[in-house]
Amino acid sequence: MNRRIVAMARHTARGLFVAGLLTLAACASAPAQSAPTGKESAPAAKAPEGPTRAAPTRPAHLWPFTKIQGIEWVKLDDVAAHYRLKTAWSKPGVEMTLADARGVRLRFEANQRDFHLDGVRVFLGRSALLHRASLWVTRLDVIKTIAPLLRPEDHLAFLPAAPPKVIVIDAGHGGNDPGKQNLKLKLDEKDMTLDVVLRLKKLLELRGFKVKLTRDKDERLANEQRADLDRRAAVSKEAKADLFLSIHFNAVEPRDAARVTGTETYVLTPQFQWSSTDNGGDSLTNTAFPGNRQDVANVVAGYQLHWAMLAGLKTSDRGFKRGRLRVLIMPECPAALLEAAYLSNDKEAARVGTPEFRQEIAESIAEGVQSYAALIAALRPPPPPDK
Ligand SMILES: [Zn+2]
Repeated sequence: MNRRIVAMARHTARGLFVAGLLTLAACASAPAQSAPTGKESAPAAKAPEGPTRAAPTRPAHLWPFTKIQGIEWVKLDDVAAHYRLKTAWSKPGVEMTLADARGVRLRFEANQRDFHLDGVRVFLGRSALLHRASLWVTRLDVIKTIAPLLRPEDHLAFLPAAPPKVIVIDAGHGGNDPGKQNLKLKLDEKDMTLDVVLRLKKLLELRGFKVKLTRDKDERLANEQRADLDRRAAVSKEAKADLFLSIHFNAVEPRDAARVTGTETYVLTPQFQWSSTDNGGDSLTNTAFPGNRQDVANVVAGYQLHWAMLAGLKTSDRGFKRGRLRVLIMPECPAALLEAAYLSNDKEAARVGTPEFRQEIAESIAEGVQSYAALIAALRPPPPPDK
C-alpha cells in the first residue's frame, strides 16, 4: 500500500463519518470464502451448536440481476445509478470506476476478487465479470458488501441500536501455542498479541469503553485448539460484548516472506459466499452461523478497523477479507480478526519487536473502534430529551 491510498483511506473514514452526520452515506459488504488454511483461528470444521436460521439478507433495494450459469449478477451501471455515481472505463474492458463529484469512490477490475472503496482494498466473494461491455458483480456481493459499505443508513434494521460500549479483546494463541514465530528474531505471536492487547485495553478505557480480555497472561484457554477458540468466543457472550476483536500476527511460506508485508482484516463470510482464500464452496458455505446475524455490522466495523490500521501504520494493504474463522462464527456481536503485520518478514518482524510499533498498532485499532462507534452514533442520534 502506498501513501496515496493511506491518505485516501483517511479521507474516506472521515468522509464516512461526516456523511453519516449529514445525509448518512456509505459502507460495503463483500462475499467471502472459507478460512485460510494454516491460520491459527482454525476454520470451523463443522457447524457449531446453535440456531441456524437464515441470516438477515433482506436488501434495502431489490437489485436487478441477470442469471448466468446459476449465479445472480448485478451490472455495475445499475449499482452506480442507485447511488448516483458515474461509471467510466479507466482501462477499457478491464478497469471500471464509479465516481461522485468528489472523485473516484470505487474501482473494479475484470476477473479480480478485490475492489477498492475509497482507496481501501475489499475482497468480493467472486471476481468481477466482464459481460456485455460492462462489469458485473454478484448480487450477494452487492447486498453483503457493496451496499452496506456505501450506504449503511439503508441497513439500520441490521445495525446495532447503539454505539458499542463493551469490547472483548482476544490476544491470539498463548501457553504452549506460540502462534506464528520469527525464530531469527526470537519473536512469538502469542507474546506480541498479548502486549498489543494490554496496550489496547488502556487506550480503549481512556476513551470510555469497558474492556474485557480473553486472556491477560501467557496461557491457553483449553488444551484442544477448537475448544480454546470456542472459549475465546464464549467470553464475548458472557461479557455481553458489543464488539469482539481477535488480534493476531501473520506469516507466509518462506519463499514469499521477503515480499509479503502489511495488514489484513477478517470478518465472517456470509452464508452462501466463498471465503477470500477459496475459489469454491465447501461443506460450510451454505451454513448460517450465529455470527452471520451480524453480517451488516461486521462489514461496517471491519472496514473501519481495516481503514484505521492502514492509516495508522502506513503499511501494505493485504485486504479486508472474509473467512469462516472459528473465533468469528459464534460471537453474537460484531466481530473481526486483525492480522496486524507479518512475522515472516524480517524487516516487518523487527518493527513488531519494538514497543513503539506495538503501541502504534494498539492506537490504530483503538482509532478503528472509535470510528465504528462514531459511525453508529451518527446513524442513531440520541432521542431528544423529554420536556
Ligand atoms: Zn494467529
